[in-house]
Amino acid sequence: LIRLERVTKRFGTNTVLDHLDFSVDAGKHVTLIGPSGSGKTTILRLLMTLLKPDEGTITVDGQQLFPASDKQVREIRKKIGMVFQQFNLFPNMTVLRNITEAPVTVLGMSRDEAGERARDLLDLVGLADKRDARPTQLSGGQQQRVAIARALAMRPQVLLLDEVTSALDPELVAGVLDVLRDIARSTDITMLCVTHEMGFARDISDQVLMFDSGRVIEAGSPEKIFSEPEQARTREFLSAVL
Ligand code: ATP
Repeated sequence: LIRLERVTKRFGTNTVLDHLDFSVDAGKHVTLIGPSGSGKTTILRLLMTLLKPDEGTITVDGQQLFPASDKQVREIRKKIGMVFQQFNLFPNMTVLRNITEAPVTVLGMSRDEAGERARDLLDLVGLADKRDARPTQLSGGQQQRVAIARALAMRPQVLLLDEVTSALDPELVAGVLDVLRDIARSTDITMLCVTHEMGFARDISDQVLMFDSGRVIEAGSPEKIFSEPEQARTREFLSAVL
Protein backbone atom coordinates (compact mmCIF):
# COMPACT_ATOMS: atom_id res chain seq x y z
CA LEU A 1 0.00 0.00 0.00
CA ILE A 2 2.89 2.33 0.82
CA ARG A 3 6.24 2.12 -0.90
CA LEU A 4 9.33 4.27 -0.53
CA GLU A 5 12.18 3.66 -2.96
CA ARG A 6 15.59 5.24 -2.56
CA VAL A 7 14.04 8.26 -0.87
CA THR A 8 16.48 11.00 0.07
CA LYS A 9 15.53 14.16 1.93
CA ARG A 10 17.95 16.92 2.83
CA PHE A 11 17.49 20.09 4.82
CA GLY A 12 20.41 22.22 3.62
CA THR A 13 23.48 20.09 4.14
CA ASN A 14 21.72 17.81 6.63
CA THR A 15 20.76 14.53 4.92
CA VAL A 16 17.79 13.40 6.99
CA LEU A 17 16.74 10.43 4.87
CA ASP A 18 19.42 8.63 2.92
CA HIS A 19 18.26 6.39 0.03
CA LEU A 20 15.55 4.94 2.21
CA ASP A 21 13.59 1.86 1.07
CA PHE A 22 10.65 0.30 2.79
CA SER A 23 7.08 -0.71 2.20
CA VAL A 24 3.94 -1.32 4.19
CA ASP A 25 1.38 -3.87 2.99
CA ALA A 26 -2.34 -3.21 3.31
CA GLY A 27 -3.71 -4.04 6.73
CA LYS A 28 -0.30 -4.26 8.40
CA HIS A 29 0.86 -2.34 11.45
CA VAL A 30 4.39 -1.05 11.10
CA THR A 31 6.24 0.84 13.81
CA LEU A 32 9.22 3.12 13.36
CA ILE A 33 11.59 3.35 16.30
CA GLY A 34 14.96 5.03 16.66
CA PRO A 35 16.75 7.95 18.19
CA SER A 36 15.44 11.49 18.12
CA GLY A 37 16.33 13.27 14.90
CA SER A 38 16.75 10.06 12.89
CA GLY A 39 14.12 11.13 10.35
CA LYS A 40 10.99 9.29 11.46
CA THR A 41 8.65 12.28 11.48
CA THR A 42 10.03 13.39 8.13
CA ILE A 43 8.76 10.15 6.57
CA LEU A 44 5.22 10.79 7.78
CA ARG A 45 5.37 14.37 6.52
CA LEU A 46 6.49 13.15 3.09
CA LEU A 47 3.58 10.71 2.98
CA MET A 48 1.18 13.54 3.82
CA THR A 49 2.80 15.53 0.96
CA LEU A 50 3.72 18.26 3.47
CA LEU A 51 7.31 17.86 2.26
CA LYS A 52 8.90 16.82 -1.03
CA PRO A 53 11.73 14.31 -1.34
CA ASP A 54 14.96 15.36 -3.07
CA GLU A 55 15.31 11.95 -4.69
CA GLY A 56 13.44 8.69 -4.93
CA THR A 57 9.82 7.67 -5.37
CA ILE A 58 6.95 7.33 -2.94
CA THR A 59 3.73 5.56 -3.89
CA VAL A 60 0.50 5.19 -1.94
CA ASP A 61 -2.07 2.70 -3.23
CA GLY A 62 -0.31 2.57 -6.59
CA GLN A 63 -0.27 6.35 -7.07
CA GLN A 64 3.05 8.11 -7.21
CA LEU A 65 3.14 11.16 -4.91
CA PHE A 66 5.80 13.24 -6.62
CA PRO A 67 4.94 14.38 -9.17
CA ALA A 68 1.17 14.25 -8.84
CA SER A 69 -1.56 16.65 -9.92
CA ASP A 70 -3.46 18.65 -7.27
CA LYS A 71 -6.42 16.36 -7.84
CA GLN A 72 -4.29 13.25 -7.32
CA VAL A 73 -2.81 14.75 -4.15
CA ARG A 74 -6.31 15.42 -2.81
CA GLU A 75 -7.29 11.81 -3.56
CA ILE A 76 -4.20 10.47 -1.80
CA ARG A 77 -4.76 12.67 1.24
CA LYS A 78 -8.27 11.27 1.59
CA LYS A 79 -6.75 7.81 1.97
CA ILE A 80 -4.47 8.87 4.80
CA GLY A 81 -5.45 9.90 8.32
CA MET A 82 -2.88 11.44 10.59
CA VAL A 83 -2.71 12.03 14.32
CA PHE A 84 0.01 14.32 15.64
CA GLN A 85 1.78 14.84 18.91
CA GLN A 86 -0.30 17.98 19.42
CA PHE A 87 -3.98 17.24 19.01
CA ASN A 88 -4.84 20.31 16.89
CA LEU A 89 -8.59 20.09 17.49
CA PHE A 90 -10.77 22.98 16.33
CA PRO A 91 -11.19 24.85 19.66
CA ASN A 92 -14.40 26.65 18.71
CA MET A 93 -16.29 23.46 17.77
CA THR A 94 -17.86 20.76 19.92
CA VAL A 95 -16.30 17.32 19.99
CA LEU A 96 -19.01 15.99 17.66
CA ARG A 97 -18.50 18.84 15.21
CA ASN A 98 -14.74 18.30 15.22
CA ILE A 99 -15.39 14.78 14.00
CA THR A 100 -18.16 15.48 11.49
CA GLU A 101 -16.67 18.58 9.85
CA ALA A 102 -14.32 16.96 7.34
CA PRO A 103 -16.63 14.10 6.29
CA VAL A 104 -19.34 16.68 5.53
CA THR A 105 -17.18 19.31 3.82
CA VAL A 106 -14.59 17.08 2.11
CA LEU A 107 -16.46 13.84 1.44
CA GLY A 108 -19.90 15.41 1.01
CA MET A 109 -21.47 13.13 3.63
CA SER A 110 -24.84 14.24 5.02
CA ARG A 111 -24.76 15.74 8.56
CA ASP A 112 -26.98 12.91 9.80
CA GLU A 113 -24.74 10.17 8.44
CA ALA A 114 -21.59 11.91 9.66
CA GLY A 115 -23.20 12.39 13.09
CA GLU A 116 -24.13 8.74 13.33
CA ARG A 117 -20.64 7.65 12.40
CA ALA A 118 -19.12 10.16 14.84
CA ARG A 119 -21.22 8.69 17.66
CA ASP A 120 -19.95 5.19 16.81
CA LEU A 121 -16.38 6.48 16.81
CA LEU A 122 -16.86 8.26 20.14
CA ASP A 123 -18.05 4.94 21.55
CA LEU A 124 -14.92 3.30 20.17
CA VAL A 125 -12.64 5.84 21.86
CA GLY A 126 -14.67 5.78 25.09
CA LEU A 127 -16.00 9.33 24.92
CA ALA A 128 -19.68 8.91 24.10
CA ASP A 129 -20.62 11.26 26.95
CA LYS A 130 -18.37 14.10 25.71
CA ARG A 131 -19.87 14.78 22.33
CA ASP A 132 -21.18 18.24 23.21
CA ALA A 133 -18.08 19.30 25.14
CA ARG A 134 -15.52 21.75 23.80
CA PRO A 135 -11.89 20.59 23.45
CA THR A 136 -10.77 22.92 26.27
CA GLN A 137 -13.05 21.05 28.68
CA LEU A 138 -11.21 17.78 28.01
CA SER A 139 -7.95 16.36 29.33
CA GLY A 140 -5.05 15.94 26.91
CA GLY A 141 -5.72 12.21 26.71
CA GLN A 142 -9.38 12.78 25.90
CA GLN A 143 -8.45 15.37 23.27
CA GLN A 144 -6.07 12.92 21.68
CA ARG A 145 -8.80 10.27 21.59
CA VAL A 146 -11.07 12.79 19.82
CA ALA A 147 -8.24 13.44 17.34
CA ILE A 148 -8.06 9.69 16.66
CA ALA A 149 -11.83 9.54 16.12
CA ARG A 150 -11.59 12.57 13.83
CA ALA A 151 -8.92 10.89 11.70
CA LEU A 152 -10.96 7.66 11.46
CA ALA A 153 -14.12 9.56 10.49
CA MET A 154 -12.64 10.04 7.01
CA ARG A 155 -12.46 6.25 6.62
CA PRO A 156 -8.78 6.38 5.65
CA GLN A 157 -6.95 3.29 4.44
CA VAL A 158 -3.89 4.30 6.39
CA LEU A 159 -3.49 5.82 9.82
CA LEU A 160 -0.22 7.66 10.47
CA LEU A 161 0.55 8.18 14.15
CA ASP A 162 3.35 10.53 15.10
CA GLU A 163 4.35 10.11 18.73
CA VAL A 164 0.74 10.59 19.73
CA THR A 165 1.38 10.20 23.45
CA SER A 166 4.53 12.31 23.74
CA ALA A 167 2.72 15.47 24.79
CA LEU A 168 0.57 13.74 27.42
CA ASP A 169 0.91 13.55 31.17
CA PRO A 170 2.14 10.06 32.03
CA GLU A 171 -1.13 8.96 33.63
CA LEU A 172 -3.05 9.71 30.41
CA VAL A 173 -0.83 7.69 28.09
CA ALA A 174 -2.30 4.24 28.79
CA GLY A 175 -5.87 5.27 27.89
CA VAL A 176 -4.79 6.51 24.46
CA LEU A 177 -2.64 3.45 23.77
CA ASP A 178 -5.50 1.15 24.78
CA VAL A 179 -7.75 2.84 22.24
CA LEU A 180 -5.11 2.37 19.54
CA ARG A 181 -4.60 -1.28 20.48
CA ASP A 182 -8.34 -1.74 20.12
CA ILE A 183 -8.34 -0.11 16.69
CA ALA A 184 -5.39 -2.23 15.58
CA ARG A 185 -7.23 -5.37 16.70
CA SER A 186 -10.74 -4.59 15.54
CA THR A 187 -10.26 -2.84 12.17
CA ASP A 188 -8.37 -3.65 8.99
CA ILE A 189 -6.74 -0.22 8.82
CA THR A 190 -3.07 -0.02 7.88
CA MET A 191 -1.03 1.69 10.58
CA LEU A 192 2.34 3.38 10.40
CA CYS A 193 3.39 4.60 13.85
CA VAL A 194 6.31 6.56 15.14
CA THR A 195 6.51 5.84 18.83
CA HIS A 196 8.76 5.82 21.85
CA GLU A 197 6.35 3.45 23.63
CA MET A 198 8.14 0.15 23.19
CA GLY A 199 5.49 -1.94 24.98
CA PHE A 200 2.86 -0.59 22.62
CA ALA A 201 5.11 -1.20 19.60
CA ARG A 202 5.63 -4.79 20.72
CA ASP A 203 1.88 -5.34 21.14
CA ILE A 204 0.52 -3.96 17.91
CA SER A 205 3.28 -4.30 15.32
CA ASP A 206 3.54 -6.80 12.53
CA GLN A 207 6.88 -5.27 11.76
CA VAL A 208 9.25 -2.92 13.60
CA LEU A 209 11.75 -0.78 11.70
CA MET A 210 14.76 0.51 13.56
CA PHE A 211 15.96 3.82 12.19
CA ASP A 212 19.28 5.49 12.50
CA SER A 213 20.73 8.40 10.56
CA GLY A 214 18.05 8.33 7.88
CA ARG A 215 18.20 4.62 7.15
CA VAL A 216 16.46 1.47 8.31
CA ILE A 217 19.28 -0.38 10.01
CA GLU A 218 17.22 -3.33 11.14
CA ALA A 219 13.69 -4.62 10.47
CA GLY A 220 11.76 -7.56 11.76
CA SER A 221 8.99 -8.89 13.96
CA PRO A 222 8.64 -7.29 17.39
CA GLU A 223 9.90 -10.53 18.93
CA LYS A 224 13.07 -10.35 16.89
CA ILE A 225 13.76 -6.64 17.32
CA PHE A 226 13.02 -6.49 21.04
CA SER A 227 14.37 -9.89 22.09
CA GLU A 228 17.16 -10.68 19.63
CA PRO A 229 18.30 -7.50 17.87
CA GLU A 230 21.21 -8.12 15.54
CA GLN A 231 22.65 -4.65 15.35
CA ALA A 232 24.71 -3.19 18.17
CA ARG A 233 23.07 0.18 17.49
CA THR A 234 19.60 -1.34 18.05
CA ARG A 235 20.71 -2.97 21.31
CA GLU A 236 22.19 0.30 22.49
CA PHE A 237 19.01 2.24 21.64
CA LEU A 238 16.74 -0.30 23.33
CA SER A 239 18.81 -0.47 26.47
CA ALA A 240 18.58 3.31 26.73
CA VAL A 241 14.80 3.44 26.33
CA LEU A 242 13.57 0.24 27.98
P1 ATP B 1 11.98 12.99 16.93
O1 ATP B 1 11.78 11.66 17.56
O2 ATP B 1 12.78 13.93 17.77
O3 ATP B 1 10.70 13.63 16.42
P2 ATP B 1 12.57 12.16 14.25
O4 ATP B 1 13.30 10.88 14.07
O5 ATP B 1 11.11 12.17 14.00
O6 ATP B 1 12.90 12.74 15.68
P3 ATP B 1 12.68 14.24 12.29
O7 ATP B 1 11.70 15.12 12.99
O8 ATP B 1 12.23 13.54 11.09
O9 ATP B 1 13.30 13.19 13.31
O10 ATP B 1 13.94 15.16 11.97
C1 ATP B 1 15.11 14.67 11.39
C2 ATP B 1 16.12 15.79 11.22
O11 ATP B 1 15.64 16.75 10.29
C3 ATP B 1 16.45 16.56 12.48
O12 ATP B 1 17.83 16.77 12.49
C4 ATP B 1 15.72 17.88 12.29
O13 ATP B 1 16.40 18.91 12.96
C5 ATP B 1 15.72 18.05 10.81
N1 ATP B 1 14.54 18.78 10.30
C6 ATP B 1 13.26 18.37 10.37
N2 ATP B 1 12.42 19.25 9.78
C7 ATP B 1 13.20 20.27 9.34
C8 ATP B 1 12.94 21.50 8.63
N3 ATP B 1 11.70 21.81 8.26
N4 ATP B 1 14.00 22.29 8.33
C9 ATP B 1 15.26 21.92 8.69
N5 ATP B 1 15.58 20.80 9.34
C10 ATP B 1 14.57 19.97 9.68
